[in-house]
Amino acid sequence: MVNCVVCGRRAVYIERSSGYAYCERHFLKLFSRRVKRTIRKYGLFREREDIVVAVSGGKDSLALLHFLLKLSKKVRGWRVRALLIDEGISGYREVTKKDFIKFAEEWGVEYRIASFKEEVGLSLDEMVEEGRRRGLPYLPCTYCGVFRRYLLNKVAREMGATVLATAHNLDDVIQTYVMNVIVNNLDKLSRLGPKTGVVKHPKFVPKVKPFYEVLEKEVALYAVLNNIYPSFTECPYARLGVRWTIREMINKLEEKHSGIKHLTLRSLLRIISLIGGSQEGEGGPATCRLCGEPSAHEVCRACQLKMGLGLIRP
Ligand code: SF4
Ligand SMILES: [Zn+2]
Ligand SMILES: [Zn+2]
Repeated sequence: MVNCVVCGRRAVYIERSSGYAYCERHFLKLFSRRVKRTIRKYGLFREREDIVVAVSGGKDSLALLHFLLKLSKKVRGWRVRALLIDEGISGYREVTKKDFIKFAEEWGVEYRIASFKEEVGLSLDEMVEEGRRRGLPYLPCTYCGVFRRYLLNKVAREMGATVLATAHNLDDVIQTYVMNVIVNNLDKLSRLGPKTGVVKHPKFVPKVKPFYEVLEKEVALYAVLNNIYPSFTECPYARLGVRWTIREMINKLEEKHSGIKHLTLRSLLRIISLIGGSQEGEGGPATCRLCGEPSAHEVCRACQLKMGLGLIRP
């Protein structure tokens, strides 16, 4: 039996990079300390905030909602609500949506659900089908990522959010970092900071990542220890994306060379500071001439995809 380095009780977690083991109570303390440190270090929230948490119904986003709801009890100026984007992925999103609604009702959280079908015109499954029919070169994750980001910003703004919190953890961030480097999307690296979108466009809701410095497995353990057990489902498109392969590759590297994930995050932060700071963000200073949303180009990525799918006229 491995014992907690603080109190000697049975350990539930061993941190491989330090070799320290922690019991349930001291793991939860450590986790909470780390997330609060991230919040303080990068100034993620102010004293008065209308926080909207982007949720999927999976363990990561429910863990973040749980963490911020608990923390908001101590910060009088915070209001915490949730926003779920229903992409329309059959056999998957219905399940996680049900898990989210159950959690929200238990915790009395106000929320809004916005769907691709209603807001964009097609569900993700229909987009994939239509894209194939039209010979478009995109993977499902491309439509999903572009329209999800678009709707999160638009609907969070409609809800009156002053900040949008996403559950991206250290693993997610470094996977996206490596992926963007490999596919030559270096211009997207600035959106990988812990806080983005502060200075770019008045219609852009700033985004923050409170789990930026904790590992995916630590978030999963936080969820389990707080009795958050969403159904285990995997998006049917997940294994088609480049991210899946990169995720496996980084996990193998970490197994062999423990600490490599934290090192990669440090490398990313250094690059972000070299290319202009983490306060920049996705979208851009321009306004899309078709939909009026923030955009890096004359026509935003969402409208470009809509044109490709025949949802709006070129
Ligand atoms: S795996 Fe791809 S398609 Fe599935 S939810 Fe994630 S981004 Fe969307
Ligand atoms: Zn202990
Ligand atoms: Zn647009």
